Amino acid sequence: MKVFRDIDPLQKYLSECKCSRQKIGLVPTMGALHAGHLSLLRTSLKENDLTVCSIYVNPTQFNNSSDFQLYPRQEKQDLDFLEETGCDVVFIPSDDLMYQEKPKVIFGFGLLEEVMEGKFRPGHFNGVALVVSKLLHLIDPDHAYFGQKDLQQYLIIRQLVVDLGFSVTLHCVPIERGADGLALSSRNLRLTEAEKKLAANIYRHLIVASERLVAGASPEKICAESAEALDDLGFRTEYFVIADAESLQPLSNVSEGKRVAICVAAYLGDVRLIDNVIVQEVGSHAN
Ligand code: AMP
Repeated sequence: MKVFRDIDPLQKYLSECKCSRQKIGLVPTMGALHAGHLSLLRTSLKENDLTVCSIYVNPTQFNNSSDFQLYPRQEKQDLDFLEETGCDVVFIPSDDLMYQEKPKVIFGFGLLEEVMEGKFRPGHFNGVALVVSKLLHLIDPDHAYFGQKDLQQYLIIRQLVVDLGFSVTLHCVPIERGADGLALSSRNLRLTEAEKKLAANIYRHLIVASERLVAGASPEKICAESAEALDDLGFRTEYFVIADAESLQPLSNVSEGKRVAICVAAYLGDVRLIDNVIVQEVGSHAN
């Protein structure tokens, strides 16, 4: 496994691989790697000749400085993990390398960024779009892999790739969960054992909400009651939304055959957790 911290040697190496027509897959991460990342890496390893994993805790996508400071960093462990996984190339840039000066470009994604993460984390998707654009420019992969765990991020990046004409094929990989249903996340490292057990209720409530939706209950009622139920358990729910799975605009009723996303963000202590489920085809019992 090759580890690069500079752009020139990385690009030199990759251009040799491209000359020999190797297909390149990119898995961008912020490190503190877990089985969720592994699922992306395995998919890339299967579908490409060479997999590049980037590890970079991108400061511009954090709207909360303590979240940035407390974000877990464990480079040595991550490198061992990647070596075991069979990853080919790791790119670990520094802040100076990624941001020679304070960026001034501002991205806009219209309605897509006005809801959920975009609404509650101002500037977040601007930072995501900046760093992903830079990585796509630097690495120029054939395929790039993102998790459904960050569904809105995936949809924003899909728009970015279309609007800026990047020649990459994007893939959205399903959410990897623990045995109790808790979506794996680097931020789970900041939860106590008791909090981790409690956190599994997020997924339980997503499942209950999806069942109620399929049974014909009103989305607004489901969302309000689910948020209240989570709050009663000790969460501070930021949003619990039933939305169109493509536009992410909230739905007040659902029509037959619609793909619907149920998305939640909730704090447990000072740790912010997100999760979602997609209901493939809701029936026509809207009220
Ligand atoms: P992060 O390191 O949190 O920025 O995540 C890097 C990539 O891994 C993103 O595309 C995430 O959506 C994805 N990811 C994070 N957690 C999971 C999970 N539990 N299952 C699948 N993908 C995940």
